[in-house]
Amino acid sequence: MKKEILIIGGGLSGLVTGYLLKKKGNYSIKILEANSRLGGRIYTKKVGSAPIELGATWLWKYNTSLLNLCKELNVNLFEQQMEGDALFEAMSANPPQRFKLPPNQEISYRIDGGTSALLDKLSNELQRCILLNEKVLEFNSSDDKVLVKTPNSTYYCDTVISTLPPKLLVNSIQFSPELPKDVIQISDKTHTWMKDSIKFSVVYDTPFWRKNGLSGVAFSNVGPFTELYDHSNASDNGFALMGFLNGALAPLSLEQRRQKVIDQLTKFFGEEATQHIFYEEKVWRNEELTTFPDNQFIMPHQHNGHIIYQKPFLNGKLFISGSETSKEFGGYMEGAVRRAFNIIENL
Ligand SMILES: Cc1cc2nc3c(=O)[nH]c(=O)nc-3n(C[C@H](O)[C@H](O)[C@H](O)COP(=O)(O)OP(=O)(O)OC[C@H]3O[C@@H](n4cnc5c(N)ncnc54)[C@H](O)[C@@H]3O)c2cc1C
Repeated sequence: MKKEILIIGGGLSGLVTGYLLKKKGNYSIKILEANSRLGGRIYTKKVGSAPIELGATWLWKYNTSLLNLCKELNVNLFEQQMEGDALFEAMSANPPQRFKLPPNQEISYRIDGGTSALLDKLSNELQRCILLNEKVLEFNSSDDKVLVKTPNSTYYCDTVISTLPPKLLVNSIQFSPELPKDVIQISDKTHTWMKDSIKFSVVYDTPFWRKNGLSGVAFSNVGPFTELYDHSNASDNGFALMGFLNGALAPLSLEQRRQKVIDQLTKFFGEEATQHIFYEEKVWRNEELTTFPDNQFIMPHQHNGHIIYQKPFLNGKLFISGSETSKEFGGYMEGAVRRAFNIIENL
C-alpha cells in the first residue's frame, strides 16, 4: 500500500516536497494550502507586462539546489539590472547624492516571467494533489494514523510534513498530543524571514529613471522607501521600480503610502515619476498565513535550522519543515528547497 503523506502549506517548500515525493513514487500525496493561491512568501502579481514581485525576487549563484531545480524544470533566469549610478538620500533637507556602485558585486538573478513561473512548473506536476482554501486547524495523532482537520474536511494519513514557519505552526495549529515543550519554545522564538517587510512596486510606460546614466538603484535614510531597484521584465519591455518601505509605515492606508512613495520617487527622478500606471504593495506583517502577530522581538534568522527540527516528532508522524528549519540558507528560497530534499532523505 502507498504511504499517505499530507503536506501542510503550498509555498515553495511544500511544492518542492510534493514534487520530489512524486518523482520518488509509491506515495499518496496531498498538499493542503490555506490560501486561495499557492506560493506563500512567493507572490508575483501580473500587472501590465512587468511581473511584480511582492515576495521573493532574487537568487544567487551559491543557491545551488534552487539553481539545479530551475534547470531541471526549464525555468530561465536573468540578471538584475544594475547598470548605471545609484542615488543615496542621507537627509530630507538635501537632494539625493549620486554614487557609483562598487564594481564586481555579486550578481543577483531573477526568474523570467516572475518567481511564480517556478511555482507553475511545480504545481503542473502535482495538480490533483493540491487543495486550496484548506486551512489546517488541528492535528491529532493516534497509534497508527494522523487525523488533520480543516474547517471543511478531515484527512487521514501516515505522516504529516508541515512547511509553515515554525512560529506560525505552534501558534495556529492545535496538536493532540501536545508537541514537546522545547519544540514549542524554540519554534515560538524562531524568526520568520521578511515577516515585517513592506514591499512595493510602481509600473511605468518608460524606464525614465535610466536617463542620465542612473540604474534605478537607490537608498534612503529618510524613507518612505529605504531601498529601490529597477524591476523591469526579462525582455526589458515592461518597466517598473521595486523597493522596500520603512516598516513603521504599516499603520498607514495604502493610499497614504502610495502618495509618499510617489513623492519620494519624484524627488529622486523628477516629475515623470508621477505618471505611473500601477502601484502595488504587500504589508507582510498583516499576512496571517505568514506572520503570527505578537510584540516579541526576535533576531533575524534566530533559531533558523535549529537542531531540534532535524528529527521527526510523534514517532515519525510529524516533520517540521519549511525554509526556516533548513540548516543552510534558512529563511531563503534556497533553504526551502534544501529542506525539502533533506526531508525526503529522512522519510
Ligand atoms: C518580501 C519578501 C521578500 C523576499 N525576498 C527573497 C529573495 O529575494 N530571495 C530569497 O531567496 N528569499 C526571499 N524571501 C524569502 C522566501 O520567500 C522564503 O524563504 C520562501 O518562499 C519560504 O517558502 P516556504 O514554503 O518555506 O514558506 P512559505 O512561503 O511561508 O509557505 C508556507 C505556506 O503555508 C500556508 N499556510 C499557512 N498556514 C496554513 C495552515 N494553517 N494550513 C494550510 N496552509 C497554511 C501559507 O499560506 C503558505 O503558502 C522573501 C520573502 C518575502 C516575504
